[in-house]
Amino acid sequence: MSGTLSFEFFPPKTPAMEESLWRSIQRLAPLKPDFVSVTYGAGGSTRERTHSTLQRLLAETQLVPAAHLTCVNANRDEVDEVAQAYWDAGVRHIVALRGDAPADAAGNFTRYLPHPEGYAFAVDLVAGLKRIGDFEVSVAGYPERHPESADLSDDLDNLKRKVDAGATRVITQFFFEAETFCRFVENARKAGITVPIVPGILPVTNFAQVQKFAKACGAAVPDWMGGLFEGLDGDPETRQLVSASVAVKLCEKLRDNGVEDFHFYTLNRADLTLAICRMLGLGARVPASVA
Ligand SMILES: Cc1cc2nc3c(=O)[nH]c(=O)nc-3n(C[C@H](O)[C@H](O)[C@H](O)COP(=O)(O)OP(=O)(O)OC[C@H]3O[C@@H](n4cnc5c(N)ncnc54)[C@H](O)[C@@H]3O)c2cc1C
Repeated sequence: MSGTLSFEFFPPKTPAMEESLWRSIQRLAPLKPDFVSVTYGAGGSTRERTHSTLQRLLAETQLVPAAHLTCVNANRDEVDEVAQAYWDAGVRHIVALRGDAPADAAGNFTRYLPHPEGYAFAVDLVAGLKRIGDFEVSVAGYPERHPESADLSDDLDNLKRKVDAGATRVITQFFFEAETFCRFVENARKAGITVPIVPGILPVTNFAQVQKFAKACGAAVPDWMGGLFEGLDGDPETRQLVSASVAVKLCEKLRDNGVEDFHFYTLNRADLTLAICRMLGLGARVPASVA
């Protein structure tokens, strides 16, 4: 296998979550991923925590960190300051995103409105980052199109603009059918997008939550998946086994179609991602950790 392997984490909110994140990182690090990325909370809400997670990765591990950064709720100077701080800390890879408007008090999604003095869309952020430093920049792609795009062609135009602005990798939103990803890649290539397009793989830990996320981001949850997880709400062990098997099958189908790069949404848990990588022979071959 010559493809790349990467893991995504989110910054922890509490000391207990922090401990659990670092245990996960320690268990996944021996796979020697090409990079690990740390998300930026909705509306920039995790600015400090994202930064301190990145700093700790740089100080205490050999892992190559990538920092997510969004345009939401900040003017250009503020976003530039965050990017400059990443650069100064030694971060050389940014996942550049528009972000979403924070949820309202009732937890409902609200419409995104660009900050009047901010980077309006991800494409603007990509260009801004390139002015700050020679960052490696990854951007988001949507196999089932972004819900705010008029159609697939509008969505691919936007993706092409992000690549033309300097992005060198596309990491996709999660999806559950290999055909969905393959069709997307085929259309992206036809649209002249030549950079690597890396599938974002989401091992399903909580099916009800995945359905909610999927609805918000326009990803389809196939009926067969509902059937597989039905009745398992109170049975986490069986759910884990089903989940690992579903993700492995998806990755195998992708591999059959020539896919070699994989990005895992770990949700800060090592077990599923570790099991899936071992089953697929992804990452460095090392003895299992007993942590
Ligand atoms: C791999 C990955 C990682 C992510 N990480 C995070 C994270 O850390 N934090 C977070 O908050 N969110 C994250 N997200 C979610 C992301 O912020 C949302 O999906 C968001 O809605 C869109 O971000 P984008 O970068 O794709 O936006 P864009 O590429 O800017 O596109 C957003 C929408 O705007 C449209 N658009 C673009 N330009 C214009 C224009 N000039 N006029 C009108 N419409 C336009 C596009 O067609 C598209 O529909 C992530 C998503 C992915 C796939």
